[in-house]
Amino acid sequence: MEALTESGQAVSIFDSEDNLRYANKTYQGMFLGDYDGPFTFTDITRHAHRNGLGVRIDDGDVEAFIARTLFRRRSVPRKSFETDLVDGRWFWIEHTVLSNGWVLSVGADITALKHNEKSLRQAHDAALTASRTDQLTGLSNRRHILGLLDEKLAANESTGSGLCVAVLDIDHFKAINDAHGHEAGDVVLEHFARACRERVRTQDHLGRTGGEEFLLLLPETRLDDGVRIIDRIRDGFPPALLAHSKLELPCTFSAGVTEALPDDDRSSILRRADRALYAAKAEGRNRTRVGLEGKH
Ligand code: GH3
Ligand code: MG
Ligand code: MG
Repeated sequence: MEALTESGQAVSIFDSEDNLRYANKTYQGMFLGDYDGPFTFTDITRHAHRNGLGVRIDDGDVEAFIARTLFRRRSVPRKSFETDLVDGRWFWIEHTVLSNGWVLSVGADITALKHNEKSLRQAHDAALTASRTDQLTGLSNRRHILGLLDEKLAANESTGSGLCVAVLDIDHFKAINDAHGHEAGDVVLEHFARACRERVRTQDHLGRTGGEEFLLLLPETRLDDGVRIIDRIRDGFPPALLAHSKLELPCTFSAGVTEALPDDDRSSILRRADRALYAAKAEGRNRTRVGLEGKH
């Protein structure tokens, strides 16, 4: 009996009228404090709630909590569940209803396990985000944006509401690297990504597919609007500022844009957009060209 009283597990026994008949020290610390009765389940729960003890009640409505719990308390002979306390601890409760209607409840502290679970989940989420993100610019990386392209193509197949795809490539980027160094080049890439992202709609997706090349997906968009959106990005595009030298570097880009056709897949649509990009470069850069069906 002393072992039970001293146990770190929270042990309680209520009779069939829900009067507390036994509570070990851990249970007392959790629910009673210096409470001196009456010791019914309802009174104890109200007392605990008033005094910042016991289980956390999400909506703070203790009477509704009591009604809910009393209703379910003897619905099955045996159940286990996890619950969190006002003080932040988590307990795993084993709840047994005896044949005479008495209820035995044993709770084990699983707070450490819950913390492990949480940090594992956070680590998993962080790893997932990192696996999708281009480190330098924070945009979607190549694999992620191409996966999104597959998804948007499939969605467009079923809705037919239009999908434009554009390849954007910074003009004469190598010259920036050559004249100002690789780090300045990186600053320009970050600047380009940020300015571009600020200028697209929330439903659009922008990713970095290679060195200074980016892929823009414009769902629910017809070609005319796709061209207009890219023109809007280009219009007044801010120069990149090199903080240490206070140099302003003009930052222009060329774009090849195309609209998804029936039966397009990732490679056919990118081929069309790429050809259009090369045309834009060949015609003098800092412009958009459209990739049309049949122009192979
Ligand atoms: P164009 O107008 O025809 O696109 O010319 P360009 O100079 O922009 O294109 P080119 O393909 O000749 O050069 C791209 C350069 O981008 C070459 C490569 O060294 C550089 N580059 C690729 N990745 C990075 C990067 O992450 N950071 C920096 N700073 N430079 C990069
Ligand atoms: Mg380039
Ligand atoms: Mg390039």
